[in-house]
Amino acid sequence: APKTVLITGCSSGIGLALAVKMAQDKQKRFKVIATMRNLGKSGCLEAAAGVTLNKTLEIKQLDVCDEQSIVSCINSIPNRHIDILINNAGVGMIGPIECQTIEEMKGVMETNFFGVVRMIKEVLPDMKRRRSGHIVVISSVMGLQGIMFNDIYTASKFAVEGFCESLVIQALKFNIFVSLIEPGPVVTEFETKVYEDAENADYSTTDPETADMFTNLYLKNSKAIFSSLGQTPSDIAEHTLRVISAAKPPFRHQTNAFYTPMTALKHADPTGALMADTFYKMVFKYDMLLHISLKAIKVIRWQAQKMRQGVKMLSFR
Ligand code: NAD
Repeated sequence: APKTVLITGCSSGIGLALAVKMAQDKQKRFKVIATMRNLGKSGCLEAAAGVTLNKTLEIKQLDVCDEQSIVSCINSIPNRHIDILINNAGVGMIGPIECQTIEEMKGVMETNFFGVVRMIKEVLPDMKRRRSGHIVVISSVMGLQGIMFNDIYTASKFAVEGFCESLVIQALKFNIFVSLIEPGPVVTEFETKVYEDAENADYSTTDPETADMFTNLYLKNSKAIFSSLGQTPSDIAEHTLRVISAAKPPFRHQTNAFYTPMTALKHADPTGALMADTFYKMVFKYDMLLHISLKAIKVIRWQAQKMRQGVKMLSFR
């Protein structure tokens, strides 16, 4: 029988691409329940789903911030049987923290962190009883490494990573897999939305130097990075499908090899100096921010070599 897959946030981006890819699976391995907060926004998904609509793909309402909507959606599924839960819904936020209200910050945590917690809390008991299941979370490389001016978004993804890292061990005892998908930049509405917000924001609540750093250095670089290194929602869907199809799904999976050296820095040097120094140089010396160009890789290699020499010297003492 096909596996029942529930995906959150399917009206656009990665969620939409993944729902369609799984519904169109040639081997018909999946029955997709593509959920979204606002059913009025189902047009793009319906068009992309084509003939799979109401066959291998069904659209249902679900707001990850509303417990009642989660319960109603899951209760409407026969025997509440979900084989694979994909937590994809998420929101972004960029800018200097002096320009963001605590309410706005809580909103990001509500969706990106508590949204995931609410979903898992609702499906976990059923999965435990059946002693099978797979919980997938679309995290981010920013769940592994902080990036300047993404303070709150990064914190929300770190929270998700910590939560899952703690849960995965208990889950394994019940034969339930947990997997974090960690994309770098992906060209979706997500990016458009955060840039729009950033362009309309009021930067008078921060000092001119920070405002300039954000609007000139960060925004300019970030746009260049999305257009040069950005993956497509379909790329992320392909990676996620591979993780789901694995006999032993990995706990973590990065989709963009460019970012692997960046996320490894903190593990090479537990004091954090290597990470801080490399990022400082990338941002303020090479004007690159997230940009893992050849130049940046050279900086990272040089720093890592210095580290290794340091470690060697210590061990010789
Ligand atoms: P997107 O904005 O196209 O998709 C996010 C979806 O989540 C939207 O359809 C939105 O309506 C939905 N959503 C927001 N709040 C919701 C709620 N309360 N309940 C239900 N749905 C809600 O952007 P995307 O890039 O496809 O984002 C999907 C996931 O990928 C997010 O978790 C995001 O953090 C993550 N991600 C994105 C990028 C990127 O660069 N775009 C990189 C790494 C990770």
